[in-house]
Amino acid sequence: MQVSKFGGASAKSADAVKNLFKIVESLDKPQVIVVSAMGKMTNAFETLAQYYFSGNRVDCKNQLQQIKDYHHSIIMGLFGDFENAVLSPFFECVRMLEGRLEQFPSMHFDYEYDQIVSFGEMFSTHIISAYLNYSGVSNKWVDVRQVLKTDDFYRDANVDWEMTTKLMNRTFTFSDTSLYVTQGFIGGTLSNISTTLGREGSDYSAAIIGYVLNAERVTVWKDVPGILNADPRIFPDAEKIDSLSYAETIELSYYGAQVIHPKTLKPLQNKQIPLFVKSFLDKDRPGTVIRQESQPIPVPIFILKRDQMLLTLSPRDFSFITEENLSKILALFSQNHVRINLLQTSALNFTVCVDRRENLISMVEKLKEFYSVRYNDQVELLTIRHFSQQVIDEKLKERVVIDSQVTRKNARFVLQSC
Ligand code: ASP
Ligand code: MG
Repeated sequence: MQVSKFGGASAKSADAVKNLFKIVESLDKPQVIVVSAMGKMTNAFETLAQYYFSGNRVDCKNQLQQIKDYHHSIIMGLFGDFENAVLSPFFECVRMLEGRLEQFPSMHFDYEYDQIVSFGEMFSTHIISAYLNYSGVSNKWVDVRQVLKTDDFYRDANVDWEMTTKLMNRTFTFSDTSLYVTQGFIGGTLSNISTTLGREGSDYSAAIIGYVLNAERVTVWKDVPGILNADPRIFPDAEKIDSLSYAETIELSYYGAQVIHPKTLKPLQNKQIPLFVKSFLDKDRPGTVIRQESQPIPVPIFILKRDQMLLTLSPRDFSFITEENLSKILALFSQNHVRINLLQTSALNFTVCVDRRENLISMVEKLKEFYSVRYNDQVELLTIRHFSQQVIDEKLKERVVIDSQVTRKNARFVLQSC
C-alpha cells in the first residue's frame, strides 16, 4: 500500500480540488490519502480559537462566518449546490463546531486551540471524500483521531506508537475499499480528545501512517517541483534536487530549510520507506526521492534563516569559559526554549546565533549578572552545504559578515540583514 499527503495549497479552491481528484484517480491503489486543512484555513481557525478563548463573541461569529463562506464557495464550485446527500457529514461537522463555540471555554488555551483548529482538517476531508465519491472515485473517510493516538500535550502531541499501530491495522484493512481519506496534523488522546501534532504536521501524519502500515512509499504533493537547493522566494535561481538521503534531508531541516516537517523522516528511515516529494501542478514529473542511498548532490544547498540574534557572553569575573559555565548557560537557553542555531566558544567568549523571541531580552538580563553581554540584533544566518570557495565568494558579495564557522560540509555565516 501507499500513502499520499495533500497540503493546504492543493485544496485551496474548487479548481485545486478538481486537480487533486485527477491525481488521486491516477494513483496506484491500495492507498491512504492524508489531507490538510484547505488553503490557509489553519491560520483562520487559529484566529477563531483566539477570539473564542478571549470571549470576543462578535469577532468569533464573524470569523466563523468567513470560514463557512470559504468552504461553501468551494462546495458550490465542486457540486453546484448544497443538496447532495454526500455532504451531510460536512454539515453535521459544521454544527458540531457551532455547538462548541456556544459553550464557555475552559481555562486551558492549548486545549481549546486543538479542539477548534482540528476542525480545519475535518472540514477538508469531509468535502474531499464526498467529492471523490460523487465523481466516481469511491473511498472511505476515516476519523484519524480514533486511530492516531497521542498523549495530551496539546499543540505538540506525542504519538502513542503501540496503540496507534494496533488501531490503524484494525481500521485500514482495505477489505471493502482500496482508498481511504483521512486527516493530517490531528490525533486523539485515549479518551478521544482532539490533539494536534504541531503546525505543518501533516507530513508527519503521512509518515506515521506509512510506518505503521508498512507502506511501499509515501508521497507528499506540493506546489514546488520537488526539494530545491534553496528557497526560490529568496534565491530565484534555485534548482531541483533529484535524490537525497534521509540523513541529508534531516540535516537540511535541522539547519532551517522548510522542506519537510522535521519529524517526518525518522519513522520512514527506520523502515526504509522512500519519500517522494512531487508537484501537484505537474503530476507526471518525478520530483525528489528521499531514501537511504542517494546520488551525490550536484549543487550547493543554501539555507537562510532570518530574524536571528547573535549573542556573545564573556564571564565578568575574568575566568575562562569552562565546562561549568557552558552547562549553566545552555541550561538557561533550554529552560527558555531558545533554539541555538550556531555556537562558538573561545577562551573568553561564548557566542550563539539564536531565533529572536519575545523572552530573549529577559533571558539576556538574567545573564548580565554573571556575564558581559554583547549582541547584534536582526541578523541572518546563511548555511551553505557542499560549498566551494567560489560559491561562498559569490553569495557573500556585498554582504557584511559578522561571524563565520566552516566545517567539512557546512560553511555558515552570520550576516547583517540587508
Ligand atoms: N493544516 C496544518 C497547518 O497548516 C497542518 C499542515 O498543513 O501540515 O499547519
Ligand atoms: Mg497547512
